[in-house]
This record gives sequence, structure tokens and C-alpha cells, in this order.
Amino acid sequence: MAPHQRVLLPFPLVFLLLLLLVVPPRADAWGKEGHIMVCKIAEKYLSEKAAAAVQALLPESAGGELSTVCPWADTVRWHYHWASPLHYVNTPQVCNFKYSRDCHNSRGQQGMCVVGAINNYTDQLYSYGQKTSYNLTESLMFLAHFVGDVHQPLHVGFEDDEGGNTITVHWYRRKANLHHVWDVSIIDTAIKDFYNKSMDTMVETLKMNLTDGWSDDITHWENCENKHATCANDYAIESIHYSCNYAYKDVEQGITLGDDYFFTRYPIVEKRLAQAGIRLALILNRIFDGDKADDIPLRVQ
Ligand SMILES: [Zn+2]
Repeated sequence: MAPHQRVLLPFPLVFLLLLLLVVPPRADAWGKEGHIMVCKIAEKYLSEKAAAAVQALLPESAGGELSTVCPWADTVRWHYHWASPLHYVNTPQVCNFKYSRDCHNSRGQQGMCVVGAINNYTDQLYSYGQKTSYNLTESLMFLAHFVGDVHQPLHVGFEDDEGGNTITVHWYRRKANLHHVWDVSIIDTAIKDFYNKSMDTMVETLKMNLTDGWSDDITHWENCENKHATCANDYAIESIHYSCNYAYKDVEQGITLGDDYFFTRYPIVEKRLAQAGIRLALILNRIFDGDKADDIPLRVQ
């Protein structure tokens, strides 16, 4: 193109481009990095049998790695419209979660939230090895994604602010919303400041913490008494507590969040990523390598 040649864009396109520049992206899940890290941790804790089943179900494009398909559910939100409410759950501005009160979509259909989705896809995967009409590859990809989502505190947030999506903040100098800060910004800043801009280094550090600093906690994280369903209900209860005590705490519209917020919140983000990885492995091990007592089909709580 000649240097002075001007390209005239049709008005709607100009408008769209301007809109993209001024409106911060609406985030709806751990960013890509968050989901990949959760699944990289989970892969390490899969039993041999579970790892083989996962391999058999993964699409060819995954190159044999579960982590490559973990962000997938976010990329199909627009043509799997029904799945949009399955990434989160909102409470009526209270710091507790109740399945019967909160787990529904905007039309009031019960079970259409992240907790119901985890139980549903787990239930579907129990038909692995039998004749089934489910697309178990998709069930696995949804499950791996939603176990990540339920651990992002603001995926169990308040209805009024859409889990922090409508709370505009500045993350250091950049305009963002509170939900995006927890999906992406805290992780990005940690990768940049602590891990030499390498996500892989961050994952390796989290894995090392799991065999070191957090090793005593893992048994507690894995504790899931519920033999008839996953413990996704408990993970949602944890998340709303983290939302109230950390994510929303001392935040108001227009606030600038910087070092004070980052240094007190990033340990929570790291812990939630590690917990999600451990629990995803736990669920997959129970499905594909469970003893008979664990083979009871799951029921939505
Ligand atoms: Zn999501």
C-alpha cells in the first residue's frame, strides 16, 4: 500500500473497531493461561488408567495433552449459546452459595450453572466404555474447563455486578473490570514479575509447591465425602467466601488496584489454580479408575 493511501472503512466497521478500543473485553473465565495451568497440574496427578482414558477421548488436535483443550469451552460460547450460563453461578448478593437457590440459568432452569455442569458432565463420562449417545470428548473438555472455572472466586460472585464484570477498575494503569482482574490480570502480572514471563515456570513452581509447601493440604483438598456427586458444591462455597473476603473486599467502582491488592490476592489465585488441578485429577481418577463404590452414577445436588 502506498504510504499516503487512505483506507476508508465502512461506518459500521469503524464503529466496531472504536468499540473494541474503548470497551474492556468482557471476561468470563480464567484466561487461557489459567485453564492451561489447571490442566497441566491435573495431568500430573492422573492415574495410569485415567490418563489412558483421557488420551483415548482427546481430539487429535490436542496432541495428546489435556491442557491444550482446557480453554476450548470459552471458544464455543457463541455457537453453544445454551452453555454460556454453565461457566459461573451468581448469588443474590450474599456470601454463601445454595444450589437450590442459585444454580439456574436466566430462565430459571435448575442445574444450569457451573456446579450443575460439573456434575452433569461427570455423570456423562461414567458411560465411558459403554454404548452411549453422549459425545464424551466434549464432555471431557467441558468438565476440565468448568472445574477450573468454579475455582475462580468471581465465577461464584454477586448477580448484581455479574461476578465483578460491571465493576470498572484500573489494574495499575490499565482500565479493566474486576472479573477480568481475577481471570487474567493477576496471573499475567505474576507471570511477568515472578516467573520471568514464562507460564511454564509458573506451572513448575505450582507443582513444586504441591510436593512441598502445600503437600499437607492436598489430602484436605481431595476430601470429597460425597460418593453420589462431585464436591463441586463445596468448591463453589469456597469461591464465594474468597470473593467476599478477597475479590470484592475494599473494592469500589473506579478504584485503582495496584501492589497492595496484587500482593494480598495473588497467593489466593495460585492456591485456587493448584486446588482446581488436584480436584480435576481426583474427579477423572474416580470416573476412569474408581473402585466399585465410586462407580455409582452421579446425581445433581
Ligand atoms: Zn469458562
